[in-house]
Amino acid sequence: MKSSFGPHAPIVEILRTLGVDARPAEPLARHTSFKIGGPAEAFWEPPDEARAVVAARAVHDRGLPLLVVGLGSNLLVSDRGFGGLVLSLARACRDVRREGTTLSAGAGVSLAKVAHVAAEHELSGVEFAVSIPGTVGGAAVMNAGAHGRSAQDVVQRVRVWDPARGVVVLPREAMRYAYRSSQAQREPWVVLGVSFALTPAPRAAILRTMRDHMEHRRATQPVGEKNAGSMFKNPPGDFAARLIEAVGAKGWREGGARVSTLHANFMANDGTATARDVLILMRRVAAAVWERFHLALAPEVRWVGPPEGEDGTTWDNLWLPGAGP
Ligand SMILES: Cc1cc2nc3c(=O)[nH]c(=O)nc-3n(C[C@H](O)[C@H](O)[C@H](O)COP(=O)(O)OP(=O)(O)OC[C@H]3O[C@@H](n4cnc5c(N)ncnc54)[C@H](O)[C@@H]3O)c2cc1C
Repeated sequence: MKSSFGPHAPIVEILRTLGVDARPAEPLARHTSFKIGGPAEAFWEPPDEARAVVAARAVHDRGLPLLVVGLGSNLLVSDRGFGGLVLSLARACRDVRREGTTLSAGAGVSLAKVAHVAAEHELSGVEFAVSIPGTVGGAAVMNAGAHGRSAQDVVQRVRVWDPARGVVVLPREAMRYAYRSSQAQREPWVVLGVSFALTPAPRAAILRTMRDHMEHRRATQPVGEKNAGSMFKNPPGDFAARLIEAVGAKGWREGGARVSTLHANFMANDGTATARDVLILMRRVAAAVWERFHLALAPEVRWVGPPEGEDGTTWDNLWLPGAGP
């Protein structure tokens, strides 16, 4: 039997022969902070790392698509879904261990938990991450950051499964970090865990910093709305939010999607938004910024799905000058 997602045998059946009981047609809207996205052909939350690797290997060796999700807080998933296996490492990679001033955390651990465990051990360095709603794996891949710091400042080593080498421990340099960018975005790696190099500091000071970060976020970001954080990267020396606000885009709507009135670089789903709505709104915003400032905004949020967006344009050329509505 062929899969309705593509010309390959259904992934759920391939995995079943390996003893893996993946869920078919799992709505990805359930696994993203935007609450948008069609079904994944197969979805699995493996109980341990070894089985996560077996499943990743099985789909990789057959040339089938694999997506690892953290908390889905930086994803825009196509309304048509994802024709491959989606793996969540929430159960398989959830340990946090401290050795001296190094804290090692599984890829599925939330950043908030890492920050709190570090504080318990009187270790400073990951306070910035307390209010970023992602996992350790997602932060390592995205080089997530806030308050002037990002993953690259504290990541020491990253354990990944690499189809060519198996499980390997990479030094930070191998991640080739840049602003919201890493080598892991260009490689078929599954991040399994990360070691953070921290420094001793009094617990009270660490907790105070974490509290300040949380308060700042509550005051400046639309907490409680369905969104995916910043939609666009900040251009060098500027802020995407400033540019978007300057073109008067705050409050713009498309279907169920709206440019946030609190933070112009956020978009909110009112509960009915489709990926298509968001794509069209992103394109309108990017086109307006291009027209006024001759600056091409690049998306920070990552597209999951067929390469062409729902409105017919491709994700890659959506933002180029002249690609306006
Ligand atoms: C309200 C809100 C505020 C935000 N604020 C910030 C902020 O201040 N700073 C910031 O940088 N970001 C921010 N974000 C975006 C987001 O939280 C970060 O990008 C975060 O690092 C994503 O983590 P995640 O675990 O949710 O990853 P996901 O969104 O699930 O995935 C992101 C990418 O990483 C890949 N990935 C995830 N885990 C793994 C893994 N184990 N192995 C291989 N690949 C993996 C995915 O395939 C995908 O390509 C915000 C988002 C929201 C909703």
